[in-house]
Amino acid sequence: MIHEIYNKMGIDNKVIDFCNDIEKNLKERFNDIDTIAEYNQLKVIKAMQDNKVSDACFAATTGYGYNDMGRDTLEDVYASIFHCEAALVRPQLTCGTHALTIALSGNLRPGDELLSPVGKPYDTLESVIGIRPANGSLAEYGVSYRQVDLLSDGSFDYEGIKRAINEKTKLVTIQRSKGYATRPTLSVEKIGELIAFIKNIKPDVICMVDNCYGEFVETIEPSDVGADMCVGSLIKNPGGGLAPIGGYIVGTKQCVENAACRLTCPGLAKEVGATLGINQSLYQGLFLSPVVVAGALKGAIFAANIYEKLGYKVVPDSTEPRYDIIQSVVLRSPEAIIEFCKGIQKAAPVDSFVTPEPWAMPGYDSDVIMAAGAFVQGSSIELSADAPIKEPYAVYFQGGLTWYHSKLGIINSLQHLVNAGIVTF
Ligand SMILES: *Cc1c(COP(=O)(O)O)cnc(C)c1O
Repeated sequence: MIHEIYNKMGIDNKVIDFCNDIEKNLKERFNDIDTIAEYNQLKVIKAMQDNKVSDACFAATTGYGYNDMGRDTLEDVYASIFHCEAALVRPQLTCGTHALTIALSGNLRPGDELLSPVGKPYDTLESVIGIRPANGSLAEYGVSYRQVDLLSDGSFDYEGIKRAINEKTKLVTIQRSKGYATRPTLSVEKIGELIAFIKNIKPDVICMVDNCYGEFVETIEPSDVGADMCVGSLIKNPGGGLAPIGGYIVGTKQCVENAACRLTCPGLAKEVGATLGINQSLYQGLFLSPVVVAGALKGAIFAANIYEKLGYKVVPDSTEPRYDIIQSVVLRSPEAIIEFCKGIQKAAPVDSFVTPEPWAMPGYDSDVIMAAGAFVQGSSIELSADAPIKEPYAVYFQGGLTWYHSKLGIINSLQHLVNAGIVTF
């Protein structure tokens, strides 16, 4: 029966059988993922109970949004989950880059220095920081930037970091996920070690973690190991696929207050910001997120095992522990990454009939091809694949609101490579 419906969707028996054999060997790993999901599900429910989430929290506010109980309670729920003093969780944070920008610009002042001890940050942050000159960058406001690259084995350059910290260093930005790079993703434990090292040298420095794609992958978050702020996007993990927009900043009361003064304005801070009726989606998405993240992780591990078996370099590899939901597959040619993305697109519930094409996306320094048939535009907790059209021709694959959809997408990506003659059995 299963073969029949896969056949109807254009998948050959050879491809299904190859993939199912791989899945059979992943039972133990999938079990481990389910255990983490169970823990995080309970953590989220407990936070909702402790903060007395009620039906009244789902009511819409408009205009100034004064006394938006749903918004304020949701921020308390986020603060509880991340074990932080405060949170800013807003639809007015338009995306992850914006949330990071608000966290940075709210907490940095002219003359301060920003340090990244984990190499070059995510592409879109280059314009924000001013690594790539841009209108309105932190550099234009007199904030300088310093970077210490990871060592060639992916570990921290502790000597270099020590040398880089100076009297101007105000904020350290640590990106948990690899993003569009082939460096390893950092475990929360590793992030904790880095923060402890930095705080030992300069105790009052603000340690911020770009937590995009990392939420609920482990049972602890960077705020459990000393981060002063964690920042992320609601159209990634913690929105559970239901949040239609938004970002979050959790952390110390002061850091969050500083960010809120930048998001709205000095004096108004967290007091304004109507939620226009989307609160229920933000709560319900957060509630589902641990299970959605588990499905996405299973998809990532499934893809790693399939493509590694076919002789491609995959990061992380088939057996490595996971610290984010991203899987990269180095497909070695533009044709292969385009076919992979077409396969993902064709497996989508939405826009399955369109063909993805590379384009010059704002904020990126090369053409990028993106496959996504999403209910929420650009949502990358939904099954999606992105690939910058540049060496080493790696595709970055993530998401899937259900494991079965992730599985179909990966199988279909392989079918496309087979159809194009790039993979032969
Ligand atoms: C996605 C992502 C961002 C930016 O988020 P957008 O919502 O795309 O603006 C920043 N950092 C990392 C590591 C990301 O994965």
